[in-house]
This record gives sequence, C-alpha cells and structure tokens, in this order.
Amino acid sequence: MANIHFHPNHDLLSRYANGELDSASSILISAHLEFCPHCRQKIAAIEAKQARILESSESATLTPSLSAMMLEIMAHEPAETIIEEVTDCELTMEDKTYPLPSVLQRHNDKIGPWSRLPGNIKRAQVEVSGDSKMNFIYMDSDSSLPEHTHQGQEITLVLAGEFYDESGTYKPGDFIVQTDEHTHLPRTREGQDCLCLTLLNAPLHFTSGLATLLNPFSQLFFRR
Ligand SMILES: [Zn+2]
Repeated sequence: MANIHFHPNHDLLSRYANGELDSASSILISAHLEFCPHCRQKIAAIEAKQARILESSESATLTPSLSAMMLEIMAHEPAETIIEEVTDCELTMEDKTYPLPSVLQRHNDKIGPWSRLPGNIKRAQVEVSGDSKMNFIYMDSDSSLPEHTHQGQEITLVLAGEFYDESGTYKPGDFIVQTDEHTHLPRTREGQDCLCLTLLNAPLHFTSGLATLLNPFSQLFFRR
C-alpha cells in the first residue's frame, strides 16, 4: 500500500523479527505488516541476516523465533472445539463491520464490548498479556480526543478511515508512535470516521484547559 507514510522504526522491526518484543507490541507490528510490503521486506532481510549469523556460528544460542513466540501466545488460548464462524474474522460496531487483523482473528473472546467515551469516541478493549493496554478506538466523523500527552508510549495503527492531528493525516496501515515528548489532538474530519488499534503503556495525560478535567478519563483506557 503506497499510501503508508508512518512505519515502525528499524529497532522495533528488528526486535520483532528476533522475538524480543512483548506480545502486545508484536500484535501491532504484525497488523502493520499486513498493510505494508515495505516493512515485510525489511523483516525478511533482518531474518535472512539473522539466519546467516546463526549458520556461521554453530554454538550460537538460538533466539526464540517469532513463530515459536506466537505459538507460545496461542498456547494460552482455550482449545478450539467448534468450527470457526465468519465473524471470527470480523469486528462489528453497531451497523459497521471491519476485517480483523489476521493476528487477532479467532481471538474475539479477547475483545471486550464497545463502550462510549467523551467526544464521539468508542473503544473496545483487547485483553493482552503484560502491563500495556490495547484498545480498538473508533472515532466517529467530526470528533476529537481531548489534547493529551503520554506518560510513556502510545502506538496507534490505523485500520480504516483516517484521522489527523497537528503533524499530519493518518491512513490505513500508518503506524504512529507517540511518546511523552508529543502533545497531540487527534481529530476526524466531517464525513470521515476512523478505526484504530492502539497500545498504551501508561495512562494518557491531558494538558489543556477543560481537558485537564478529563484526566480521570485516561483511566477509562486502563480499566479492565
Ligand atoms: Zn511499514
């Protein structure tokens, strides 16, 4: 998809390929890779290089491969006893249906119900291991999140539609990393909604005016 302008950096891709990332971050990267042939190629190059290093050093300790890691994640899942339904591959929100990223397909039981947040935003939490919080965030058209900074890091992957902030417009496949250095005000335009998958490793911190009153709102993202 030639429209993708925001990618995971080399360090993230390399840690992903080497199985060094936590499972929640790996899910985000994996979902980005479905959109992005450019990063798939980079992963292939990193893996090829890794294979050469392993070949050239017989005594090398094998790093856990990604597939082994994903298998380990899947091992915590209950055994499948029923034939999969089509809805296992889809995310529904009211009358809308979206394809789920492959990495989350058949894990519908980990996706919580939609709840309403201020500002025409809805979220559905995804249960992941570790301390970070994963959410599907749906922004209706012409809506905005209060301006906020991040204590820690927020990764946003656009799945459908688009949103924008002070730094640009983000479209499906875009992988946006925000840290505590950034302040931003995500918005959607009139007639344009947006579905994202987000990963937070600390609560949001709102910075401006009335929005500071909404700071407890950041806890909504963290509620189990
Ligand atoms: Zn990419």
